[in-house]
Amino acid sequence: MHRRTLFALSLLVVAGTAAAQGYPNKVIKLQVPFAPGGTTDIIARTISDALGKALGQTVVVENKAGGGGIIGANETAKAAPDGYSLGMATVSTTAANPAINPRTPYNPLTDFTPIINIAATPNVIAVHPSFPAKDYKGFLAELKKNPGKYSYSSSGTGGIGHLQTELFKNLSGTFITHIPYRGAGPALNDTVAGQVPMTFDNIPSALPFIQSNRLIPIVVAAPQRLAQFPNVPTFKEVGLEPVNRMAYYGIYGPKGLPKDIVDKINAGVRKALEDPAVKKRIEETGSIIIANTPEQFAAQIKAEFEVYKKVVESANLKLD
Ligand code: GLU
Repeated sequence: MHRRTLFALSLLVVAGTAAAQGYPNKVIKLQVPFAPGGTTDIIARTISDALGKALGQTVVVENKAGGGGIIGANETAKAAPDGYSLGMATVSTTAANPAINPRTPYNPLTDFTPIINIAATPNVIAVHPSFPAKDYKGFLAELKKNPGKYSYSSSGTGGIGHLQTELFKNLSGTFITHIPYRGAGPALNDTVAGQVPMTFDNIPSALPFIQSNRLIPIVVAAPQRLAQFPNVPTFKEVGLEPVNRMAYYGIYGPKGLPKDIVDKINAGVRKALEDPAVKKRIEETGSIIIANTPEQFAAQIKAEFEVYKKVVESANLKLD
């Protein structure tokens, strides 16, 4: 190899190592692209203290809601790749929304550096107790009898709550009107208050309302029925397997994040998840801990983006 090239290469290596050597020496921002109270917020806040301890720095959670998560995700994509601006990577911002929204201002596969998938969560369609049906059979019959009478809340336009419910409608031959919110937190609040009769949400944020009988679970997206409500069928059981997909919650940074910083954060999250209190908190909300490698998470995002592109195409889904 040419001497000058060799010299340039060794400089690059030194720069890369130096990036991680001092890292982290200031507060790290972990951005949630949805409002407080949703699953993204719950998982970020559950992990942030323990992650801060593992990295020897404070990790601050910041909510930047809007646009079905796209506004916050775009901010993370455009931030400096120095490890101090991280974001929560969700299925909505990395797969569902980019698949349906041609105006997504970033490329989910090339504008981020995936770091780790923290957890996967089942999803649920839940109704307000005033809804005339309490089980899937009655729910479907009620929707079929009254096309267009009901509406559903979701975490935002183009998110999984939106896309999965549109897919459900398409496959079941029903019609429900979409009402998007700035995250599952506000969507849940209005559904529990009875302003919207049903919601499609991820289990961790919906579970406390279900456990206190303020929402009734109708059908879940999960590999098998959930221990918390064993009478509720999965989408697969009711013949709607394409809707039976879980959500994921990980951490990413902007593209070009140095590998040694990525590895430090990945190790920090793994360490945080070993903390029994953190592990318990995540699992008791109904999530399944994943804790994979950056490469595995990148492959997962790519695969999920492909799935959602097919969903959008086959069901001919469009933004409202
Ligand atoms: N994964 C959910 C979604 O993107 C999270 C919503 C939220 O945390 O508010 O739809």
